[in-house]
Amino acid sequence: MSRIAVFPGSFDPFTVGHESIVQRALPMYDKIYIMIGFNSKKNSFFPVEKRMEWIQKTFEHEPKVEVRMHEGLTVDFAKNVGANFILRGLRTSADFEYERAIAQMNKKINTQVETVFLLTMPEHTPINSSIVREIFAHGGDINEFIPAVLKDCLAR
Ligand code: ADP
Repeated sequence: MSRIAVFPGSFDPFTVGHESIVQRALPMYDKIYIMIGFNSKKNSFFPVEKRMEWIQKTFEHEPKVEVRMHEGLTVDFAKNVGANFILRGLRTSADFEYERAIAQMNKKINTQVETVFLLTMPEHTPINSSIVREIFAHGGDINEFIPAVLKDCLAR
């Protein structure tokens, strides 16, 4: 049986912290679906199509990674693609409390799916999409916080 994981998130935008979680999980899985969760009733900062394009570019040479958009529950997406694992990253104790509730609720909804957590690399602990967005919105340089192959992709 192949080991399939879903890495769900808003990825608004995808950062080096997200990239590192996927890279470190690759030896553990046969396939990783990066699932961009979106809500058509809520505005995101970067359009979902752009977020998808940037993540695809980041992993264009990695055949194990597939990028999808999904509006709805992560456990439903996992079921549709035959995944038994949800991958999440943990930076701080605040992340832990937030993630704990989601993972335990997901387990109640679908007992077949396990959530697996990877602790962030120490240098990625402060990197957070909402702060990266804020820096971008005010004209700051975000190249240090996004995957190297996307350098200047997010230029205005
Ligand atoms: P969500 O809106 O679902 O929280 P995010 O795009 O913010 O989505 O994050 C997706 C996942 O990546 C979450 O598990 C989050 O904790 C993790 N993550 C976010 N930033 C980092 C980082 N710098 N290092 C490691 N994991 C991270």
